[in-house]
Amino acid sequence: MTTCIGYGVHEANAPLEPLRFERRELRADDVAIDIDYCGVCHSDLHYVHNDWKSTRFPCVPGHEIVGRVTAVGPAVNRYRPGDRVAVGCMVDSCQQCAACEQHQEPHCTQGMTPTYNGLDRISGEVTRGGYAQHIVVRERFVLRVPPALDPRFTGPLLCAGITVWTPMREHDVKTGTRLAVIGLGGLGHMAVKLGVALGAEVTVITTSPGKAEDALALGAHHVLLSSDPQAMKTAASSFDLILDTIPRGHNVNPYLMLLGRNGKLVLVGALEPLEPIHGALLAINNRSITGALIGGLEQTQELLDFCAEHQVLPSCEMIDIQDINQAFTRMQNNDVKYRFVIDMASLKDVDVA
Ligand code: NAP
Ligand code: ZN
Repeated sequence: MTTCIGYGVHEANAPLEPLRFERRELRADDVAIDIDYCGVCHSDLHYVHNDWKSTRFPCVPGHEIVGRVTAVGPAVNRYRPGDRVAVGCMVDSCQQCAACEQHQEPHCTQGMTPTYNGLDRISGEVTRGGYAQHIVVRERFVLRVPPALDPRFTGPLLCAGITVWTPMREHDVKTGTRLAVIGLGGLGHMAVKLGVALGAEVTVITTSPGKAEDALALGAHHVLLSSDPQAMKTAASSFDLILDTIPRGHNVNPYLMLLGRNGKLVLVGALEPLEPIHGALLAINNRSITGALIGGLEQTQELLDFCAEHQVLPSCEMIDIQDINQAFTRMQNNDVKYRFVIDMASLKDVDVA
């Protein structure tokens, strides 16, 4: 076992604080990684607050990890010490079911192993995430960071990016697709950048009038204020695909009305009950609601390569680990532009009592 220092919580709603824990010794197919950067996802906030009633304490969040390989097990052949690598939301899956075989590891029939708050498939220990010095991950779940991708801006692609990329690819976003993105936060701003890069006509639907200018600067073609009933009425039946990143249960009916014929609303934000849906809104225009959960390994590598080639980079605010509680408060208050990334070099100054 190797001792690791990180930031986490011992109980729900407590402030994150430095803590010490053990990482496993390398197994034959493991890669050891020193973490340089880790993005801060709204899911981290949900886990720390135990919003989903499933948090295992102590909890060390972080699933947008970028680092360098420091050692590899004897059966590893894709990576060598010194390689620039990334780890997203999963660190294992059964590798045998139809979902795994079809590169849809998040939907593994035995359940994928999340990067934190999961149970290791072999030892049963609780997995701990990337707000930490280093991590040990099975080779198959380690991604390669292309040299053209700035590692400081790579982390948010591993969750925010892939979560919107998967449904965009699934629903064939391309030149001319009328795409709307609800919520200009971590996921939303990546959806804007990626949608624009794929050629879509992108509209941001926001609760924040103050974000309109930013939305256009990020590349969106239009901005729709959800609090403006007249503007919402004018936009009725005008989108092919809507990505809904709202981070809590809400009323989707006003957004369903915005879908045109055969339009689809993909829920990626609210992983909890929604307000009742009006059936007629689905019947009219043959609309549908669907969901999406992160993305498979192959598609995540595809996204990293795409972003390197097209230089699509998240808009990041770099923070020290010591500022993480303030960052969480700002995220809760809808004040993120548009993803916090922790510079793990700041952990060097941290001591655990
Ligand atoms: P975020 O950075 O906090 O952004 C969420 C955005 O939603 C906010 O910027 C805000 O945008 C809008 N919003 C917030 N509260 C709202 C409300 N009450 N009503 C309407 N809009 C509201 O969060 P994130 O990191 O993008 O994550 C978003 C959600 O996705 C979280 O719940 C997270 O757990 C979930 N998630 C799911 C997956 C998956 O695989 N499905 C993966 C990652 C994250 P405006 O100011 O523009 O309105
Ligand atoms: Zn996330």
